[in-house]
Amino acid sequence: MNGASENKVPWICAKCQKELVEEKVKVRYLDGNFEVELLKCPQCNHVFISEDLALGKMLEVEKGLEDK
Ligand SMILES: [Zn+2]
Repeated sequence: MNGASENKVPWICAKCQKELVEEKVKVRYLDGNFEVELLKCPQCNHVFISEDLALGKMLEVEKGLEDK
């Protein structure tokens, strides 16, 4: 995991124009526990989902968030 050479474009919340922050969220998926990094707006707390997550695990993540 060496991101130094990557061109990292910050994600911006369309609503607040704030730079999103990465936050690790623990996810229960099937019989395992996973930690995924989600991008979250520090102002409105909207969680932005990467394409990878949107395809599968995100369903479980959403369930976990709703429980709180
Ligand atoms: Zn926002």
